[in-house]
Amino acid sequence: MAPEAQELVDGTLHQNISGIGLDPTYVRAEGNSLWAAAHDGSETEIADFVCGYGSLLLGHNNPEIVAYATEVLNARTPIHSQFSRRPEANKVTEVLNRIARREFGTPDTYFGVFANTGAEAVEAAVKHAELDRGMRVLALVAQVTEHTEQARAAVASGAATVDAATLTRLGITSRGDGAGDLEALLAEVEAHNGRALSKAPVFFTLEGGFHGKLAASIQLTHNPSFRTPFTSLATNARFLPVNSAAAVRPAFEAARATVLDPVVTDGTVEIAEVAAPVFGAFFVEPIQGEGGIVPLAPEFAKEIAAVSAEFDCPVAVDEIQSGSGRTGAFFAASQLGLQGDYITLAKSIAGGVAKLSVLLVRESRYRPEFELLHSSTFAKDGFSTLIAQKTLEIMERDGGEVYRRATERGARLLDVLESVRADFPDVVKDVRGRGLLLGLELHDQSGSASPNVAGAQAGGVFGYLVSGFLLHRHAVRVLPTSSAPNTLRLQPSVDLTDAQIERLDAGLREACAALRTADEATLLGF
Ligand code: PMP
Repeated sequence: MAPEAQELVDGTLHQNISGIGLDPTYVRAEGNSLWAAAHDGSETEIADFVCGYGSLLLGHNNPEIVAYATEVLNARTPIHSQFSRRPEANKVTEVLNRIARREFGTPDTYFGVFANTGAEAVEAAVKHAELDRGMRVLALVAQVTEHTEQARAAVASGAATVDAATLTRLGITSRGDGAGDLEALLAEVEAHNGRALSKAPVFFTLEGGFHGKLAASIQLTHNPSFRTPFTSLATNARFLPVNSAAAVRPAFEAARATVLDPVVTDGTVEIAEVAAPVFGAFFVEPIQGEGGIVPLAPEFAKEIAAVSAEFDCPVAVDEIQSGSGRTGAFFAASQLGLQGDYITLAKSIAGGVAKLSVLLVRESRYRPEFELLHSSTFAKDGFSTLIAQKTLEIMERDGGEVYRRATERGARLLDVLESVRADFPDVVKDVRGRGLLLGLELHDQSGSASPNVAGAQAGGVFGYLVSGFLLHRHAVRVLPTSSAPNTLRLQPSVDLTDAQIERLDAGLREACAALRTADEATLLGF
C-alpha cells in the first residue's frame, strides 16, 4: 500500500502497533516462514512462531494441500450446493468419530454441525445447548401437567387426599376442604415452577477462558475489556477459577433450582422436588490459549466432568486452538481424559488454506431438530470440507506422524524455553504448555529502570514491545496471548526448523539480558 493512501481497515490499530514495529506487510508464506517486504523491495525471511494464532499446524501453504486445493478448483467441484447431500462433510465427521473413539476409548457417536469460524462453532454449541435445555424444560412441564391432572382426578374421586405435612411445608393453611386445599397447593406449585423455569440458563466457563468474540460467545470469554461492552446482548456466564477443583461443586449448588411435581402415592398427594434444567453448558479449553497458555490440571478436568454429569450439565470442550493435532494428540482433551458432550474445532482443521469449523455433539445430547434451525450460506461448502478431509488424511497417515512431530518439535522448543528461564529467572516467570502450544511468561516490569519498559508494562503492551524487538532484531515473529499480555505464545507449525529454534533462543536471550539491565537502546533501537 502506498504510504499516503488512507487506511480504511484497522487504521487506528496499525497506528498503535507501528510504534513498536509490529506492522510489517508480509508478501509470501511457506512452511514455518513469512517473508516481510522492505520499502526497497527486498524481502526478509521471518521465523513464524505465531502461525495464524494456531491455524497453521501444517505450515503456511502446505504444498500437498495447495496442490489438492488447485485440483479441487480445476475439477469444477461443486462448492455451494446447499440443501443437497454433502458426502465430504459426512466423511470429515466420520473421520473425527474414528479419532474420538481411538483417543477417548469411547464407543460414543458424535454428530457434526458445520460452521465457518471458531466463534461460530461456539455460538452453535450455545444454541444447541439451549435448544436441548428448552426441550428438557418442555418435557418436565408436560410431566408436571400430567401429574397435576392425575392429582385433581384422584382428589375429586376421593381416591386421594392432600397430605397435611405437604401443605405446611409449602406455607399453606388448610381450609379443611380437599379440593380447595389441592387447588391452593397447585397454585403454589405453578408459581414456584414459573419462577424456576423462567430464569436465563446458567453457563459456566473459566477465568482466563477465550471462546470467541460474537454476541453469545463473547459472554463466555473472560477478558472484561472484550466482554463487558456487550453484556446486555446475551446470557452472562459464571466464571470459575482455573484449576480450583474445590470451586466446582459450590458453583453448581449455588445455581441449582428445583421444580415441584405433584405426585399421588398411596392415596396421598405429595410434592416431589425434581432438578430443573437450568444449566446450559460448562465451557472449557483443555489448554487455555488466549488466557496465557494455561493447561487444565487432570484432577480439575475430572471434577468438572463428574459434577457436570451429576447436575445434568453438558460439558463443551473448546478445542479450537488446542485441538487438530497441536498437542501431540488430535484432541488435547484426550490427554486429560475429558470427553466433551460438545467439542468445537476450527483453525488448523482446514489445513491453513480454508475456513471451516465443526461442532461435534455427542449422540446422547443430540437434537436432530437443530438441523432445521441452524445454517449458514458458507457452512459445509464443498471446498473447505474437502480441504479438511485432506488435512485429516495428512494428520492420520503413517500412524500419526504429524502428532509425533508436534510432540518432538514441541519438546525441543520447550527445552530451549526452559533453558532461557533457568538462565534468566529474574526475567522469565514461567514456561507452560504442551506440544506446539507453549507460553513463556515474563515477569512484571513495572519497576524497570527503563521508563519505556515500565510504561509499556503499565499500558498492558509490554509483551508487544518484546515481540517488536524479536521481529526486528532477530527476524522472529512471536506475539503475546490476547488476555495475558506478559505471556508470549509459541505455536509454530510442524515445519519449525532447528535453525529457527536457535534464532528464537538467541533473540530471547538478548531480550532477557537487555531487560535485566533496562537497556532501552537495545530493546527499542531498531
Ligand atoms: N475458542 C478458542 C479456544 C480460540 O482460541 C479462539 C480464537 N483464538 C476462538 C474460540 C474463536 O475462533 P475464531 O477467531 O475463529 O472466531
